Amino acid sequence: MHTLHRFAAAALTLAAGLAIGSGAAAEPQGAVVYRGATVIDVRTGKELHGYAILTRGERIVRVAPDGEIGAPGDARVIDVSGTWAIPGLVNTHEHLATPPNRPFAEAMMKRDVFGGVTAVRDMADDLRSVGELTRASLVGEIPGPDIFYAALMAGPSFFEDPRTHEVTAGLVAGQVPWMRAVDETTDLPRAIAEAHGSGATAIKIYANLPGPLVAAITAEAHRQGMKVWAHAAVFPASPREVIDAGVDAVSHVCMLAYQASPQMPERYASRPPVNAERFAGATPPAVSALYGEMVARGTVLDATLWVYDEMAREQAAQPYCSAALAERLAAEAWRAGVTVSAGTDGFSAPDDPWPAVQDELELLHQGAGLPLLATLQAATLNGAKAIGDERDLGALEAGKLADIAFLGRDPLADVGAYRTVTLTVKRGVGFPRSDYRPGPAPAR
Ligand SMILES: [Zn+2]
Repeated sequence: MHTLHRFAAAALTLAAGLAIGSGAAAEPQGAVVYRGATVIDVRTGKELHGYAILTRGERIVRVAPDGEIGAPGDARVIDVSGTWAIPGLVNTHEHLATPPNRPFAEAMMKRDVFGGVTAVRDMADDLRSVGELTRASLVGEIPGPDIFYAALMAGPSFFEDPRTHEVTAGLVAGQVPWMRAVDETTDLPRAIAEAHGSGATAIKIYANLPGPLVAAITAEAHRQGMKVWAHAAVFPASPREVIDAGVDAVSHVCMLAYQASPQMPERYASRPPVNAERFAGATPPAVSALYGEMVARGTVLDATLWVYDEMAREQAAQPYCSAALAERLAAEAWRAGVTVSAGTDGFSAPDDPWPAVQDELELLHQGAGLPLLATLQAATLNGAKAIGDERDLGALEAGKLADIAFLGRDPLADVGAYRTVTLTVKRGVGFPRSDYRPGPAPAR
């Protein structure tokens, strides 16, 4: 079967000029020149007309004026005239396996990659399932983005949460490498090493831990070469303690607002909603001071405006924070210089043709007021920084992965341009939008 798949992929390659990743095992083939697009320099916002992108295998070799690239003898040429080329989009907050449900995950991954998304952070799930999805997508068995995932750590009291049982079925929540209860007696070097062995990029510090333990986990994870992605408040660890611990990224912008609480809630499950009255006037200095600390430390803010918007849309009984306050805090953080990434922490409706990151970009621009270049950077450069792999991801530059989204409209003129993806390239493999077949909407 494998050989047949290869033949099928090779035939498609000849027909379309590049390896096609719409399902069969596909590998990037040789050199490809993408010619005719306006290439956007995501660092400066410069629109490079008359440039071409040369890739070989899974990497970008060169981005240069078309005349300079010429036609390397063995290269296939893809005509992408009339499009804008941007780095593949990164969603910094997905949950692909809570609970594990392979048809659902595959449908979301397929929609992501055909919608321009080439990498995601999976923010803790059943890593037995996520590991398999990551592998299958990496080798081209299923269409999807690259997945960088986190193993969760939290205080023992957190493991009453039913989601922790869903993602450890057959085993014991809190006692497995990807879902670990931690207290002062935990052998942290061993617990971190076991988490690392699950293939995780990062430890996600979720809830119910005091500040000193957040700091100890962070230091040990960094010592072992892992990233640390935390909730912006861990309860009782405050936002200030989480940021001062040196975590690499924090999620959920409204959690920063708890820094204004007279007393930090003891636990995640018993936290009261953010007290909106405290934000009626100027933002309390205890909260705004966090932005400067994040800038100084390079802490990424995974704002997840999408979840606050969803709570409002679904008229949640008691949302812990309004969409308006979330957008305001994200705007303030961005203006202060904080690196803001585009994470959704949820999926758009199964029958929606576009992934939720398109919504998040619209919320960042229209809600939080980020300029269009900053909005593009949130889902590219800053996504790469959140993942901790700026060497490979986030920009169209020689040496980086050939992760590219071609758009039918200019994203520096119109935030709706992210809904005009014509072709996604991930690690050199092409996913033409015209090949997207969603299949029946899967149940969650
Ligand atoms: Zn999450």
